[in-house]
Amino acid sequence: MKAVIIGAGLGGLLAGAKLAKAGYDVEIFERLPFIGGRFANLDYKGFKLSTGALHMIPHGSRGPLARLLHEVGANVDIENSNPMAVIRTEDGRDILFRDFRKILSLPERIKLAYLALVSKIFKPDDNISFSNWAMKYFDNEFLLKLADSFCGWALSLRAKDVPAGEMLEIIDNLYRYGGPGIPVGGCGAVTGSLADVISSNGGKINKKTCVDRIIIKEDRAKGIVAGGKTVESDIVISDIGHYETCRMYDCRDEKYLEKIKKTMPSRGIKICLSSDEPLIGHSGVFLTPSAQRINGINEVTNADPSLAPPGKHLVMSHQAVMSDDLEKEISIGLHDLEKLFPDKKYEVLLIQSYSKGWPVNRAASGSDIGNTTPVCNLYVVGDGAKGKGGIEVEGVALGVRNVMREMGIK
Ligand SMILES: Cc1cc2nc3c(=O)[nH]c(=O)nc-3n(C[C@H](O)[C@H](O)[C@H](O)COP(=O)(O)OP(=O)(O)OC[C@H]3O[C@@H](n4cnc5c(N)ncnc54)[C@H](O)[C@@H]3O)c2cc1C
Repeated sequence: MKAVIIGAGLGGLLAGAKLAKAGYDVEIFERLPFIGGRFANLDYKGFKLSTGALHMIPHGSRGPLARLLHEVGANVDIENSNPMAVIRTEDGRDILFRDFRKILSLPERIKLAYLALVSKIFKPDDNISFSNWAMKYFDNEFLLKLADSFCGWALSLRAKDVPAGEMLEIIDNLYRYGGPGIPVGGCGAVTGSLADVISSNGGKINKKTCVDRIIIKEDRAKGIVAGGKTVESDIVISDIGHYETCRMYDCRDEKYLEKIKKTMPSRGIKICLSSDEPLIGHSGVFLTPSAQRINGINEVTNADPSLAPPGKHLVMSHQAVMSDDLEKEISIGLHDLEKLFPDKKYEVLLIQSYSKGWPVNRAASGSDIGNTTPVCNLYVVGDGAKGKGGIEVEGVALGVRNVMREMGIK
C-alpha cells in the first residue's frame, strides 16, 4: 500500500513514521528546502532558535507525543521541566503554579474544588468561552489574567477565545499526563529523528517539491500532482490544514466547507533573548499574567545547555497577538520584558511573528474539525486538525493517532 503525505511538518512526519513502521510505502512531499515545518531548528549566532515552537513539548516525557515517538522508535530524550511553571504575581512575587490556589480566598478555593468535580460530569457547552464560564463563578481579576496568560502561552489565544469545554479537556490532560518538557537538541531533534525512522523503514522525503493538486476519482483519493509529476497512491495524508487541502481538489461538500470557514489560525509573537546570567533560572514556564502582552517565558538552556553557545542562555517569550499593528504589539512586548527583568542584562537576538500561512496553530484550539474529509482515504493531520484537549504538538500527536485508528493501524 502506498501513502503519499503532503508536508514534512511534525504532523506529516509522525504519520509517515507510523505508516512506514506499519509496512506502507511512504513518500512525503515538502515544498521547503528543510523538513520539520514550524518544529525545526534555526541556527543563529551559535544559538539553536526555531522556525516556530519554543522547544517545548506540553506534556513532556509522558504525553501523547512522547508516546508516539517511543512507539515508532524515534530516538528523542525529553527533559521534564522542573518546576512545571512559576507565576509572577501582581506584587512581584514568584509562586509555583501548583500553589496558585493560595492566592484565592477560602470561599473561592471551595468553589474551585466543587467546580473541578462537577465539570467532569456536566461539561460546559462549546458555545461558552472559558472566561465567560469562569466569570460566572469567580469575580477575581487576577484569576482572569492568569487564564489569559496560560491560554496565551499554551494556545496563543485569550481565555475569551477558547471554548470552555476545550479548556477543561486541556486541564484534564495536564493532570493526566503532567507538565512540559524540553526535547534535548530542540525541535529539530524530534523532527530529524522522525525523518530517520521514515528513511530507515524505506520511506522517502522529497524536499523542495510543492504539491499542486490531489487526484480524486469517484470520491476516493488516488494520489497527487507535484511539480507536474503524477504520483499515484492508495492513501493521501495532508499536513497543511483542511482549508489548504480542499483547495487542492474540487470540493463541493457545502457542510464541510462551512465547517472549514469556522477554523481560524492563532497568531503570535516570539522574542528570543540571549543572556550571560539566567533570567528565570529554571526549566519550566514563567507565566506573566500582569504583563501587558507577554504571556510567558521559558529558558530552555536550563534543561539543555547545547541550545546556546557555552556560557549563554537562550530565553524565549511568547505573546498572543492582540491587534493588527504588529510593530506596536512588539514594542509593548519589549517594554514588558524591561519591566520583568529591570536589573538583568540581555540581548534581543530575534523577533519572529506568526500568522496566516505560518501561524502558531492552523486551527485555533477548540476550532479543530477532526481528521477526516468528505473524500475516502484523504486525511488531514497537523495543528489544523488536532485531537480534543491536545495543546499544540500534543494535539498534533492525538490527531495522528485518530487517523491511524481510522485506518485500522495500532
Ligand atoms: C511562535 C510559536 C511557538 C510555538 N511553541 C510551541 C511549543 O513550544 N510547543 C508546542 O507544542 N507547539 C508550539 N508551537 C506550535 C507548533 O510549532 C505547531 O503546532 C507544529 O509545529 C505544527 O506542525 P504541523 O505539522 O501541523 O505544521 P507545519 O509545521 O506547518 O508543517 C506543514 C508543512 O507542510 C509544508 N507545505 C505546505 N504546503 C505544501 C505543499 N503544497 N506541498 C508540500 N509541502 C507543503 C510546509 O512547508 C510545512 O513544512 C508554536 C508555534 C509557534 C509559531
